[in-house]
Amino acid sequence: MPAKNNTSVPGVLQVAVAAPAHSDLPALLSYSSEQPLAAGSLVRVPLGSREVLGIVWDAPDLSSLAAAPPATATLKPIEAALPELGHLSSAWRQLLAFSARYYQRSLGEVALAALPPQLRELDALQLARRLKKPARAFTPAADSLAASPSLTSSPTLTDEQTQALADFFAPSQQPGLLQRPALLMGSTGSGKTEVYLHSVARVLQGSPTAQALVMVPEINLTPQLEARFRARFTQECIVTMHSGMTPAQRLSSWLLAHSAQARIILGTRMSIFASAPHLALIIVDEEHDASYKSQDGARHSARDLAVMRAKLETENGHSCQVLLGSATPSLESWQACEQGRYLRLQMHQRIGQARLPQLRLADMRVLPRGTLFAPPLLAALQEVVARGEQALLFLNRRGYAPVLACDACGWKSECPHCSAYRVFHKSDRSLRCHHCGHTERVPRACPECGNIDIAPLGRGTQKLEEQIALALIDVKQADGNALRILRIDADTTKLKGALQAQLAQVHAGEVDILVGTQMVTKGHDFRRISLVAALDADAALFSSDFRAPERLFALLMQAAGRAGRDASASAAQMWVQTRNPGHPLFAALAQHDYEGYARAQLQERAQAQLPPFSYQALLRAEARSQEVAQAFLQDAFAAAQAMTNTMTGDKANTGITVYPPVPMSLQRVADVERAQMLVEGSARGALQAFLAAWLPQLRSFKRKGLIRFAVDVDPLQI
Ligand code: ADP
Ligand code: ZN
Ligand code: ZN
Repeated sequence: MPAKNNTSVPGVLQVAVAAPAHSDLPALLSYSSEQPLAAGSLVRVPLGSREVLGIVWDAPDLSSLAAAPPATATLKPIEAALPELGHLSSAWRQLLAFSARYYQRSLGEVALAALPPQLRELDALQLARRLKKPARAFTPAADSLAASPSLTSSPTLTDEQTQALADFFAPSQQPGLLQRPALLMGSTGSGKTEVYLHSVARVLQGSPTAQALVMVPEINLTPQLEARFRARFTQECIVTMHSGMTPAQRLSSWLLAHSAQARIILGTRMSIFASAPHLALIIVDEEHDASYKSQDGARHSARDLAVMRAKLETENGHSCQVLLGSATPSLESWQACEQGRYLRLQMHQRIGQARLPQLRLADMRVLPRGTLFAPPLLAALQEVVARGEQALLFLNRRGYAPVLACDACGWKSECPHCSAYRVFHKSDRSLRCHHCGHTERVPRACPECGNIDIAPLGRGTQKLEEQIALALIDVKQADGNALRILRIDADTTKLKGALQAQLAQVHAGEVDILVGTQMVTKGHDFRRISLVAALDADAALFSSDFRAPERLFALLMQAAGRAGRDASASAAQMWVQTRNPGHPLFAALAQHDYEGYARAQLQERAQAQLPPFSYQALLRAEARSQEVAQAFLQDAFAAAQAMTNTMTGDKANTGITVYPPVPMSLQRVADVERAQMLVEGSARGALQAFLAAWLPQLRSFKRKGLIRFAVDVDPLQI
């Protein structure tokens, strides 16, 4: 690995600065420096007319450079070194270098984006001032720093929890080799979080400096996790990292982790790049969740990087273990267990003998068209309410109705800027585009023909809330009071703290029926919910995306997992309203049979040579017109074909398949036209080599009207 080579020219520093991918700047810029600075040091350097933050990078291996190193005299000097900040570890630098290489971005862009924004923006003086302010709020009393984590409030572990921990910490079967990543496959409610808490405790006790990183997919889940960790580790400095924090908070958390004062870091996907010099454990909760894949910038997968980071930390001399957890692991991770690359830890039992809910399918084909709730579901809801328990109804569409339409002329509430309909929001009588934000008041009459009878089609959570209230209008609580229905979705939780307040209401039993989007289906430990109903799951059954069934299965299993978490509640039920009750997905769901489902899915994937049996990358282009987007991709396609031809020579196969460009399924967003093309490789290495040779060529394919292009390696949505 060249990153280890430190044969630098005296006085010359290689510095990574934020330079966009596909710009013509080299990955590292050379600067002169009077003092020698270790790799990983933070510096401020001139770049054009600006002064920017940079990271001193390992000197490249000179023997591999054709050109002579630049003479010191021609180089600009660094402006300021920031010694107070210490340096970024070599494992951290290798992680960032890997990420840039693997996701085909520039090193500087990726590395600098991984630092908190304030660190990049403040000048040397401001930073020095900022560093003098201790982050008191986060720091525990000094005398307690050495104390071991308190485990007093821990419950007695179940046999399965004990076994999982023993296996996870068992010394490696092959001494001298890396510990394999572990996948904790535990049913919803089997007590995975407790295993995380114990793993962290154990690692922190094992070494006075060790740090642990615990990731969750959603920012919503951080307060709950934070509360559990703070309650357990009262003596430790714990920091959080997620996008909802102010720049000052982010800098503060970052500094505490970087200086190793914080021993526990809790965060969303961004926290995978936290600087933590003594990282000994990384936990990825709900590892299957698509939120771990970033949807912009480098589009990295924080889950995959967690596995890589543990490996790099270990290679750099201090062992770091990684624990992935889920009730419904990604097929990639499951396959890795099947192949023995990951260690599988299983927990089948729910805590306290609580049973998983029974699946009830409501066959909507036998009911009159337009039926909103199957009668047996309504009856079951009444019983739940009568028993003083709670129900959760979920629908993956917020707003009142997904489209407003005119019966007379066929007008629909299309967004003028996107190839999508604007959603009708009844509360403020607006039409809102969920893609570009375009918002207008609902017209009094059809804008095309003047018909005043324009009507909402379909339903979103707002309408569901209204409909269920109407359907159960005569139903009262056990004590005769009116039913309490609460809706939780992105619209009800815009204000800071709103979600927490709403969840608290549910936990306190102040709600009988909870209506929501998938936001409420994951992770939450609801104690009183005994019925969960998915009202419209059919669309996902027939999606063209090959991952849609995997996602739907996980969603329904996770949703079911919110029910019956308390053994004292009566038998829990999971309802699905569907027009396809015979679909094999439901048979597996009824058995809570993730394994059977995973096996069947993997067989299909193997036959079709789809991931994880092949590797994919998407090249996406955005342009003023669809023609330009596609023309650019056509050029790229031609270049790729030329390459695969020459790469093939007279040998059989490069293992690379390039598919022709197509418009994206959501073709236009905010007046930008989008198209994409898929590249598939039979091996990761082959795909990587191909991308590295192909993408740099695209920079010269200039087209008028082209806005940008980007590659998505291991895309989750096609
Ligand atoms: P999961 O993350 O697997 O869905 P949790 O870790 O949230 O499950 O655990 C479910 C519930 O069981 C939580 O309320 C937790 O406090 C409780 N719990 C976990 N382990 C134990 C245990 N060994 N004994 C008693 N209660 C436990
Ligand atoms: Zn009309
Ligand atoms: Zn729009």
